[in-house]
Amino acid sequence: MPAAVQISEVGKTGGSSTGVGSRDKRTATHSHIRGLGLRSDGYAERDAAGFVGQVAAREACGIVVDLIRWKKMAGRAVLLAGGPGTGKTALAMAVAQELGSKVPFCPIVGSELYSAEVKKTEALMENFRRAIGLRVRETKEVYEGEVTELTPEEAENPLGAYGRTIAHLIITLKAAKGTKKLRLDPSIYEAIQKERVRLGDVIYIEANTGAVKRVGRSDAYATEFDLEADEYVPIPKGDVHKKKEVVQDVTLHDLDVANAKPQGGQDVLSMMGQLMRPKKTEITEKLRGEINKVVNRYIDQGVAELVPGVLFIDEVHMLDLECFTYLSRALESSISPIVILASNRGLVPITTSRSSPATTDASDLPPAAHGIPPDFLPRLLIIPTHAYTPDEIASIVRIRARAENLAFAPEGLDRVAQLGAEVSLRYALQLLTPASVVARMGKGVEAAKGTQITVGVKEVEEARELFLDAGRSVGVQSSGLLGA
Ligand code: ATP
Repeated sequence: MPAAVQISEVGKTGGSSTGVGSRDKRTATHSHIRGLGLRSDGYAERDAAGFVGQVAAREACGIVVDLIRWKKMAGRAVLLAGGPGTGKTALAMAVAQELGSKVPFCPIVGSELYSAEVKKTEALMENFRRAIGLRVRETKEVYEGEVTELTPEEAENPLGAYGRTIAHLIITLKAAKGTKKLRLDPSIYEAIQKERVRLGDVIYIEANTGAVKRVGRSDAYATEFDLEADEYVPIPKGDVHKKKEVVQDVTLHDLDVANAKPQGGQDVLSMMGQLMRPKKTEITEKLRGEINKVVNRYIDQGVAELVPGVLFIDEVHMLDLECFTYLSRALESSISPIVILASNRGLVPITTSRSSPATTDASDLPPAAHGIPPDFLPRLLIIPTHAYTPDEIASIVRIRARAENLAFAPEGLDRVAQLGAEVSLRYALQLLTPASVVARMGKGVEAAKGTQITVGVKEVEEARELFLDAGRSVGVQSSGLLGA
């Protein structure tokens, strides 16, 4: 993340260099899900928005979305109950998507809450705050214009960004009132790359922090040029320097982090990161309390609005009584996300206090449905999910192969789908990529040329031999092959 970035006009002082961070990207196994796929009358299409089947659960989730919109979910939560791989996570994510594109979705697994370093309630609190968004509207002084020059200024000091020796990035914004040449600090490269800024883009660069926002593209450019970042083209339009309303979406956890380590952050973060004095180095309850006060003030002033997201807790039977007590309290709070729990267990003993995923400390409490205490159960809207039919599995496999851009022969996909029905949907979906890698092996030249390699039954079988499903793995273990 760029820190407080300096921008100076070329010809004046140059910016100083700071390091460029990087953000890990997670592979989304649910990237094909775009919503619940409901018609306007609330009923589900069999196959829509990437969702196949699970019709009743999707319709029930649609009603939950309505309850959330009507603010009727306070103090309540949802429990998705069903076998592994029946789309519980996918449903929770779809609920978040139905609530809006910038609504946070925070998925965790019950067992993740236990660690030697962080208290479980602290871990829960952190995830609650990851699932609460804040939309901040600010009026900012920004440079606005079309990018007519985007070129690295080479220097002797190797900085390595863009894979070359660069001291600064020069952006020339051409606008009605004249041309502005801006020399950007190298710490802004990440923002430039993240926004995929190209020549001909209309961008804002915030005067104080250097945050970059790509707001559009000149039509004239879009068709005539598709240029590399360091080519030059002129085009005039827009105002160079003006005040703009900028909307930023952050989560409360982002604010906690920004204030605990105030030197980092995007523009809103770095701004809000300066609020607490003296500067803290870790997220404490006090710090969160102070942040809440500031956030409430922003809300009262109409500068910010809360965007409750979805906190999804899988394997809810792993939570102990202390966690449930915490959950009950948090659900009552005026700032709470929508909590969706999931379980694939029936009757499970409740644990009074658990300190690690491995401990199931002696409990004098009787087993309860999904390991959930009886006083918490009445707060839940329980939605069951059911096993898929072979046809539904085949459709999901096809959708996933398309989402992962894998070229399968129809028989290859049929074989994967068959394994999905025989073993599990999860296993079948996991085989897709290895099978395509197998197909590429031994076809080095073709693959290097970028030729699409089609995956057939043979490759699926090979991948199946290489990667066992749980049942066969246990078979190998108990037949002594692994020396057990
Ligand atoms: P677990 O109990 O093991 O956590 P789960 O019920 O949460 O499993 P998911 O992770 O949602 O199951 O589903 C497994 C995979 O199948 C995911 O990639 C998911 O996107 C996909 N999937 C599940 N159900 C559907 C569906 N009805 N339509 C399309 N894709 C689905």
